[in-house]
Amino acid sequence: MRKCIVYLVEENGTSEFRFSFDLEMDQFYFANQQVKEIIVISPPLSIGTAQALIRCLNDGMKKRGFIIFGRRERKEEVERERIWRCQEKLGIAKVYDVFPSKGNLLEGITETRNNKRDWMCDLATSYAKWKEEIAPFVFGKQLLLDELKGIPNLVLDESFYQMLQYGILTGEVKVMSSVASPLDSARPICHRCGSSEKVHVQPCASCGDACATCEECIAMGRSKTCIPLLQFTYFGAKMIKKDHRQRDIPPTINTHCYQLTPHQARVAEYAVHFLHNQEFKELLIWAVTGAGKTEMIFPTIHKGISNGYRILLASPRKDVIRELTPRFRKAFPEIPIVSLYGGSPERWNSGQFYLATTHQTLRFVDFFDLVIIDEMDAFPYHGDSVLHRVVRRALKKDGKLIYLTATPSKDWIDRIQHREIDVTVLPIRYHGNPLPVPELKYINDLRKRLKQEKPFQIMEEFIAEVKKRKGQAFIFVSEVRLVKIWQNQLRKWFPDAKVEGVHATDYLRDDKVEQFRKGDIQFLVTTTIMERGVTVPNVHVLVLGADTQVFDEATLVQIAGRVGRSKDYPDGLVWFIAETKTKDLVKAKDQIERMNQLAKNWINNKK
Ligand SMILES: [Zn+2]
Ligand SMILES: [Zn+2]
Repeated sequence: MRKCIVYLVEENGTSEFRFSFDLEMDQFYFANQQVKEIIVISPPLSIGTAQALIRCLNDGMKKRGFIIFGRRERKEEVERERIWRCQEKLGIAKVYDVFPSKGNLLEGITETRNNKRDWMCDLATSYAKWKEEIAPFVFGKQLLLDELKGIPNLVLDESFYQMLQYGILTGEVKVMSSVASPLDSARPICHRCGSSEKVHVQPCASCGDACATCEECIAMGRSKTCIPLLQFTYFGAKMIKKDHRQRDIPPTINTHCYQLTPHQARVAEYAVHFLHNQEFKELLIWAVTGAGKTEMIFPTIHKGISNGYRILLASPRKDVIRELTPRFRKAFPEIPIVSLYGGSPERWNSGQFYLATTHQTLRFVDFFDLVIIDEMDAFPYHGDSVLHRVVRRALKKDGKLIYLTATPSKDWIDRIQHREIDVTVLPIRYHGNPLPVPELKYINDLRKRLKQEKPFQIMEEFIAEVKKRKGQAFIFVSEVRLVKIWQNQLRKWFPDAKVEGVHATDYLRDDKVEQFRKGDIQFLVTTTIMERGVTVPNVHVLVLGADTQVFDEATLVQIAGRVGRSKDYPDGLVWFIAETKTKDLVKAKDQIERMNQLAKNWINNKK
């Protein structure tokens, strides 16, 4: 693990505490700024501990105010005392070593390093070359130091750290610890994903310092206190000139690659206008399940591309990204499109339009003019605040954000009501038929009925009805544990029905979903993992224990939304079985009925 050293540099009467991965580089750099000496005040530390020390020192400075003393010795004394106090507080060895700066920057390099490789002779030129080489891979991104190892032909050797340090000194690379140090705060925050909920302090073999790890974003590589997080926001100046948007001729766009219903077109048009709307920065497209959201965003992306925007379309599901990429490539043949998901071979490509799983959003900083988040309520990181932070960071300061959802959370409804965001609603499915309305069916003592010899009446009716319609069904249960129990019981009760069970960690999950799609499984007992994503034409749903907490309003609306999506089977059974009436059950049904009413009004207005 690369450690860094904290030092004090005094320039134009101002003291500044800094850290360095390559102290010699800083000595050259400051010598060139006419600084005579720098004072090293730490042993090699992990980046997180180094930053904690600097913060402690700066806090002291703020509290005390900066006093310029007449006598240099007196000032030094005060400074030294402050440094010692912070070193002691953080349990860092007391170091206070004065180092001379190393003469003229370029001279210094030729003097001491002239035996090394040629590029050393001209530091600035070497740096420019280095930057140009890595810019296509890193521009607009924030990456863990370890992630850089994946860049083709890049070796993290001494010369890499020299160049990196030069970039830090010139302010073109921003570096921080991936997770704040536990020395700094009782609840360290992860600088990569912005979460503090799932940050744990634990012994760390690689640094030996106080170290915290973030579990929230661990799927994207381990973020922790001793791993530097690098932001390359200012690496793009050169690249932009080569970019597509400098062309005078508009790019070819194959509009026949997407087709909109009149209702979709109406919402699509709204979204296109939003791009030039001065009042709002964010737009929520609230479209019912099965409205055809993807289709609708084509015109917006079309417009964005013509404007020369850099665009990100993020969806929670990898299969959606993989399915959409070729469609967009066909529609925008001249636009460099990058498709990003776990294991994508295009990981280090750069382009104008990015399709990515929502996870990938956290790798970008200040990069996009337009970000579209599909199914934002299925954002993989917890809490709306993480969503806001990660998405806004990926966006340029004056960029635009579009969120797509069928089930906005209460927070979002509040934001709409406070006019913080713009909203447009599409209450009609692409085929124009209303949403199937759930039937609430009350039954007592479901647990007891589960153990009975014979199936209870509602279950019998449901199975018979699905069979009669030659359909298939999802049977939702509230816990993983119940999947197997219900699966076995249903097999016992209905020996001629093809019943399977599936849950998130089922290693046969993909196979079973595939079999269900093909119609080889008729009844699939499942947890809420199947609430979205899998679309089968003649499908029906039954929710057992619909009054349990996992089935909140949004989940119930999504579950009901599985049914009737196909033009050939626009209707179907949506049965919610519960012992008691819950608020969420009632609200879910209300929401669906309200949307249907709204749809009716739309259609009537059109006539
Ligand atoms: Zn994190
Ligand atoms: Zn560590």
